[in-house]
Amino acid sequence: MVVDASGRNGLSLRRLGLIRRRKGPGKIALAAHWENIQFPHDYCYMHISSPGYTGMAPVGNDSVNVVLVVENRHVKGQELGMFYQAVVLGNERRQSLLAGARLKERVRSVGSLAYDVQPVPCGGLVLAGDTTGFIDPFTGEGVYLSLRSAQLAAGVIHQAFAAGDFSRNFLAEYERQRQEEFCKKFILSRILQKFIYRRRWCDGVVTLLRRNPQMAQTLVGVIGDYLPADRVVSWQFLLEGIRGAVSPKPETAPQSVSAAGLG
Ligand SMILES: Cc1cc2nc3c(=O)[nH]c(=O)nc-3n(C[C@H](O)[C@H](O)[C@H](O)COP(=O)(O)OP(=O)(O)OC[C@H]3O[C@@H](n4cnc5c(N)ncnc54)[C@H](O)[C@@H]3O)c2cc1C
Repeated sequence: MVVDASGRNGLSLRRLGLIRRRKGPGKIALAAHWENIQFPHDYCYMHISSPGYTGMAPVGNDSVNVVLVVENRHVKGQELGMFYQAVVLGNERRQSLLAGARLKERVRSVGSLAYDVQPVPCGGLVLAGDTTGFIDPFTGEGVYLSLRSAQLAAGVIHQAFAAGDFSRNFLAEYERQRQEEFCKKFILSRILQKFIYRRRWCDGVVTLLRRNPQMAQTLVGVIGDYLPADRVVSWQFLLEGIRGAVSPKPETAPQSVSAAGLG
């Protein structure tokens, strides 16, 4: 029995040719730590700002990790470090958050962010974590999905040992469980991706959430994986959204939503 948890460049993905690049423009993440920074420590800041988005998270000792995600075409022919700094500091809000900060290290990059993985074509092999596919970190928690997929895999592998059956058919039960648990989360992630890159749609959703803090809390709970995805991927949530848009409540933004800057 082989468990491949070797991540996005997993050995079995390469050997068996299981990677399926998603249609549409590829994305690249550029990341570096910044130092000498007075950062409001309670939050991770996500900024959507053409040509992509950033996640900024304090990592201790006056340091902040700043990740920039853009479509590949934007970095073509560019020197990555200079491009990264120009885009990060090209946004007013980021500039004010990073005032006085300096880069602590060379900019690192992770390419080909969006991919899916074809079903395992043989018995005796189980994939866990990023070897099963990728969820955009803006709209999903890869670490949770990895740990949870490992838990599900362990359960099915235990049964396989008990039954003495490591066939592809038997192990397909793991794939079924994974699909059942994660399918709606991936659907939600893809829907949100459509919204976040269209400014008017994105502003509309943020306004809706600001007026409906309960919906915002539910959405954050699902994205953060402490609520099941069907709390949001449901007719009921859609109806609540329509009701909220048609007869809005007064604006009382919860911190988690108001802290996410747009612009
Ligand atoms: C830019 C970016 C930002 C992200 N932000 C977040 C976030 O904020 N929150 C979140 O939850 N997730 C985030 N993720 C996703 C998260 O990092 C991954 O989903 C998670 O790390 C996957 O864990 P994993 O153990 O499956 O794979 P990995 O973390 O990739 O671990 C695989 C390990 O296997 C090792 N390995 C590879 N080949 C072999 C081999 N042949 N033999 C032995 N070992 C091998 C590798 O060295 C590595 O240590 C982000 C990802 C990216 C790219």
